[in-house]
Amino acid sequence: ETGGNEGSLSDARVEGRGRKRLTRKEHKKRKKQRKAQNKQQAQQEEDGVQGSSATTDSKNSTGNVAESEDIGETAVEYVPTEIPSLKELEKAHGAKPLGKWFPNAVIIKSKDPPVATSKVSLVLFYQYVDPLWPESVTQQLMAYLCQIAQTRVLGGRIRVAREGVNATISSRDSSSGISAVNTIRHFTQDLLQFHDVFKKTDFKFIDDLSGDRHFKDFKVFPVKELVYYGLDGDKAPLHKGGTHLSAQDFHKKLADKDTVVVDVRNHYEAAIGRFDGQTVASTEEKGGTKNKDDAPNAAANGGATYVDPKMRKSTDFANWLNKSETKKQLEGKQVLLYCTGGVRCERASAYLNNNMGEQVAGVYQLQGGIERYLQAYPDGGYWRGKNFVFDKREAIGIDNPDGDGGVVGNKKKHKPSKDKKSEGEFLPEMKCCICQKPWDRYIGKKKCLTCGVPVLMCDACMSSKANKDDQNLIRCPLCIEEDVTVRANEVDWTNNGVAVCKSSEKGKVAPSVLKWGGGHASQKKERRRFKRKLCKFGADCNRPDCFFAHPKGEREGFLAGEND
Ligand SMILES: [Zn+2]
Ligand SMILES: [Zn+2]
Ligand SMILES: [Zn+2]
Repeated sequence: ETGGNEGSLSDARVEGRGRKRLTRKEHKKRKKQRKAQNKQQAQQEEDGVQGSSATTDSKNSTGNVAESEDIGETAVEYVPTEIPSLKELEKAHGAKPLGKWFPNAVIIKSKDPPVATSKVSLVLFYQYVDPLWPESVTQQLMAYLCQIAQTRVLGGRIRVAREGVNATISSRDSSSGISAVNTIRHFTQDLLQFHDVFKKTDFKFIDDLSGDRHFKDFKVFPVKELVYYGLDGDKAPLHKGGTHLSAQDFHKKLADKDTVVVDVRNHYEAAIGRFDGQTVASTEEKGGTKNKDDAPNAAANGGATYVDPKMRKSTDFANWLNKSETKKQLEGKQVLLYCTGGVRCERASAYLNNNMGEQVAGVYQLQGGIERYLQAYPDGGYWRGKNFVFDKREAIGIDNPDGDGGVVGNKKKHKPSKDKKSEGEFLPEMKCCICQKPWDRYIGKKKCLTCGVPVLMCDACMSSKANKDDQNLIRCPLCIEEDVTVRANEVDWTNNGVAVCKSSEKGKVAPSVLKWGGGHASQKKERRRFKRKLCKFGADCNRPDCFFAHPKGEREGFLAGEND
């Protein structure tokens, strides 16, 4: 073990953190750290963490990454982040409640000063584990992630559950000269060091993005489900999930007849881009002629019928599937499912198989999601429109890998695409919710006042005074279609955003609300107002969603529990 630590000390010098000779005091500190690490490893074995010792595993994983991902001469040697003990972590990291939804999320703000010309890298991944991790492993992983985020320049979000992790992580070039390209890969090596299950993980790396694509903070959310479907494992066991298809096989199946392709994303994502090119005449040339060798002419066969379940959030999926119209639509058909990165299809396809596997001719899911498909088909294949993403890129176009994110009309920062967009390139749903002119960006956090989902609003309508206050009832296309008219802030919602009542004297209520909209926004405002008043119960308060202020430190600590 001593050898291993010496190794990491010299590695630290390579990264420029340990250039000067160690003083006696520092030597003592290192010795103490080593001792703690050894103790930690013994503890891990007891806890059932399968990762082998830091030294051997880090060597193996360095080899793996170098083989699969050639990052060239810029490669900086990997210095593992030590896995601290739970006791140390309890002291070091306070959990910060993020409201009712994630009472025990942890936020780490980056201390590294920004670099003017820095580039950003992303890694997107998810990993389900079977059997479930014991609670102690999820707590240790959360703590370890905090440790990593304080050592490396990282931002983003990671959901940690007993069933695995789901993450969108960014890095930028650091002030000490370590590139984002290296940091983001070192982060994945830390995970390999923590647990062997990450050897199976499909890490999607995206490099060379502009500097403003970095998340300023690193958030760790403890959750029950990686994707909140509100299903327990028995209703959608992962081993019943649909057959995983590569981008190429998915592309071929999109051209099949007697096939439906189900969009497992929310309607506001589907509105700006989707897999329906196989049935649209204008893109026939794209799918049929250009990719002649890959697939039979889609238009001639009919191609897979596109189905949008019109969800506001993933909890709507089960309700949609249980409708008799849905069952009729899917009966006897091959069913293809897809989402942004693949994670949402895992449980959705399992639920579908479990409920009507006998009535359909096979259930399939796109491995790696749209993200992987568009890498395999840079001209778009059967995809039309843009890929909505949950990071600072906002939405990715075929000719715009850096994404739309940022200020509208900031042409200095974001080069406009080669050819100016003609009106024909807009999908019919891509229009401003106020003036109806073609528009395809979600900006200014504008949301539907009756259900909270993001709405498309053009820059002109955005800056008009009439839309700045809440006088104008801004609604999403779903609420207009369903004639939902009651404002979300006038309705009581469950913790998971399901309406407590379905209608009021004022009209129809949305079946579900997105967490950052509607009533929750006003709750948040309210909470801010009461934050400065002291709670009458003080440190003894045990109301989990108490608005008032409490003596500092008394109610903190993410070991308190888990919630969604
Ligand atoms: Zn407008
Ligand atoms: Zn709505
Ligand atoms: Zn209280």
